[in-house]
Amino acid sequence: MSANAPITQDVMTIPRKLPEGPVNLVGLTRDQLRETLIAHGTPEKQAKMRVGQIWQWIYQWGKRDFAEMTNLSKAYRAELAERFVIEVPEVVSKQVSTDGTRKYLVRIAGGHEVEVVYIPEEGRGTLCVSSQVGCTLTCSFCHTGTQKLVRNLTAGEIVGQIMVARDDLDEWPVPGVPKDETRLLSNIVLMGMGEPLYNFENVRDAMKIAMDGEGISLSRRRITLSTSGVVPEIARTAEEIGCLLAVSFHATTDEVRDKLVPINKRWNIETLLEALRAYPRLTNSERITFEYVMLDGVNDSDEDARRLIKLIEGIPAKVNLIPFNEWPGAPYKRSSNNRIRAFADIIYKAGYASPIRTPRGEDILAACGQLKSATERARKSRKEIAAEAGLQS
Ligand code: SAH
Ligand code: SF4
Repeated sequence: MSANAPITQDVMTIPRKLPEGPVNLVGLTRDQLRETLIAHGTPEKQAKMRVGQIWQWIYQWGKRDFAEMTNLSKAYRAELAERFVIEVPEVVSKQVSTDGTRKYLVRIAGGHEVEVVYIPEEGRGTLCVSSQVGCTLTCSFCHTGTQKLVRNLTAGEIVGQIMVARDDLDEWPVPGVPKDETRLLSNIVLMGMGEPLYNFENVRDAMKIAMDGEGISLSRRRITLSTSGVVPEIARTAEEIGCLLAVSFHATTDEVRDKLVPINKRWNIETLLEALRAYPRLTNSERITFEYVMLDGVNDSDEDARRLIKLIEGIPAKVNLIPFNEWPGAPYKRSSNNRIRAFADIIYKAGYASPIRTPRGEDILAACGQLKSATERARKSRKEIAAEAGLQS
């Protein structure tokens, strides 16, 4: 494959409808839900209203049993129960860190497992959601990058991660009881396993469901999608999702970024920045988060900091410095605290917020890039890595 060949994604998403089983309603968009109900006998005239009712039961009240949908007739509830299920991933295990971070291992169809992390903060809480089992990309500092891509998650499996976390936090409102305005699960970051922009449609549909005002109702400004830099999908993210964007920048020269984030060989820093410049305009002036992992002696010099400022000039930006989370066999070391602070200082003095991400849930290995399921241990060979990423000349 030539260096310029497009990186394709030929993984299939499993069909929502299993051949012999009932249809899972979780993850269907409103339109899809309507079509599904009609296809199973709901009269077309009633379909819109039924969608609204069922939608609210599932996403606003967190119900999983049709029998509880009391504004539907008993006969209709029985019909629904015969044909459909309301299914979310099964929580296989849960670990709670001394700092309150919760890590769930959830099982999805096919027996695969993905991790979901809940990080409580003062007055809010963030859920770190996965979009794929493994990842096709091969960032050299990322543990997920050593795993093969097994498959894309379905929209239901993505929104299902939010639903299981709400179950565990006991945060579904109760009809008739006033809502508590401070939410335990108030923010979503697509920073778990996988590259969300290589599973675009499912991620989009899941986030649309999460944003829907008659359901989970999270504002688009409380959802952050992190990408390694899949340039052609960035404008589409602005148009079709409209959430906040974070980008795994991590280096200030193409030479270094090629090594850290190999997708850079396909879309280099300049091309990426061009797409990023357009994003705030398309989504109405939001700041872009530049994620920058601090690797000792690799990308952490004062010169790097100054180059970074130059590169992002003119982009409304915040630089999030991530102390490298080391994993066994990792080819890098974390920069010293002093180095990280000095780097942060240079960025800050240039007028950009430059928070240093405090590692959370370290005792339960809940940090970025460490999410890895026990069942997906297959490691890629170097050749496979290069071939899958379409980077081999
Ligand atoms: N695939 C997407 C989102 C998942 S990774 C992306 O790459 O943006 C979420 C963030 O964690 C990314 O910025 C990623 O570069 C970073 N990350 C991965 N492994 C890490 C590690 N070992 N230490 C620190 N950050 C890491
Ligand atoms: Fe995939 Fe993101 Fe890890 Fe890169 S950093 S290998 S894109 S999950």
